Amino acid sequence: MTSAPDDAATLGEAGAGWPKLHPTTQAAYNRILWNGGLSKSEVAKKLGLSRTRMTTIARDLEAAGLIVEGGREQRASTGRPADVLYARTGLFHFIGVHVRANELVAAGIDLNNEVVWERRRHVDDLDTRVVGALCRDWLHEAAASGLRVAALAVCGNTERIDGAADGVGLHAVAPEAARSAWETEFGVPVWAEDDVVALTMFEQWPRLAEGQDSMALISIGRDIGFGLVADRKVILGAHRRAGRFAHVQVASDGAWCPRGHVGCLWAESSTTSIVNDVAGVRTLGEVIELAAGGDRVARGRLARAAHGIGVAAGHILNLLDPDKVILTGDSPSILDSRTGEFEEGMRTVYTVPDRPAIEVTVFDFLDWARAAASLALYRRLAEYDR
Ligand SMILES: [Zn+2]
Repeated sequence: MTSAPDDAATLGEAGAGWPKLHPTTQAAYNRILWNGGLSKSEVAKKLGLSRTRMTTIARDLEAAGLIVEGGREQRASTGRPADVLYARTGLFHFIGVHVRANELVAAGIDLNNEVVWERRRHVDDLDTRVVGALCRDWLHEAAASGLRVAALAVCGNTERIDGAADGVGLHAVAPEAARSAWETEFGVPVWAEDDVVALTMFEQWPRLAEGQDSMALISIGRDIGFGLVADRKVILGAHRRAGRFAHVQVASDGAWCPRGHVGCLWAESSTTSIVNDVAGVRTLGEVIELAAGGDRVARGRLARAAHGIGVAAGHILNLLDPDKVILTGDSPSILDSRTGEFEEGMRTVYTVPDRPAIEVTVFDFLDWARAAASLALYRRLAEYDR
């Protein structure tokens, strides 16, 4: 993975770009940032550092302008008052661009993961040139608005961009050659990544302080995506193809998918498949409306979809034993009033009495862009935190 030119050790000399820090110094900074402030002894304890080493690290971070020392506070960890170090969260910004078939949405976040800037643009033809030109424009606009951009991420479905024709995935509009050229031209690290991976990082990053080491995110839509975190790392896979779990079998006598599977998760629970199975409807919303009105076919079809999601979640629980499972995309509307079917499906494969937390979360169009920005933040800071 390449990095932007950021050779200067201190902010005073660095201009734009995240300063290059020793991996341990970066790790200390990350702990201070995501815990919302820590004392030196707390950081030292978390990273197994000596008092002397930690004193040097805190001095380096302060000299680089990345942290400030707050007042003395009573610390729950030791029961004694200590000087608390805080990250200066407004120093750098991270831009995420979410690619859809007819629209690009951008969000800029600060180090606190707060959205401080956003843009939205309709596009008639989606191609590499259009994506590059918009990123270029937006980086200029962000800089003019006072943002100091340290990284950019372009995210979208790598298999099929939302609303695009079959076969048009993110890598068709942001191929490696373009990503690499953008990185050189823009002078900041640029990532092009699957949006479910971005959403996973968006969910995982703020939870690091709470000790959440693992989670699974399942996004249901026209296609089904899985994001996995183990040992605080998002699992990308040796060939960046981890999380392809949409065609696991979840029913023995279910619907067919185009790949010839019977009862796979895609066939049972993707919105494409649900809509195909109910006569006279074009959208999932119409199926849900019919079901709410008592239509037997629509109700049965949604119940099967919820059951299928439950089985898939059960397999993930068995495989990963995560702290938490997040269900998103169209899951909230599919599972609404059908949690019984979900639980039943899960219990067909997951037999442990206690199960981890399962959250059903709605992400809107801006959240996907914000997730892309989170990916840029997470990658930039975690790059040296191994
Ligand atoms: Zn299938």
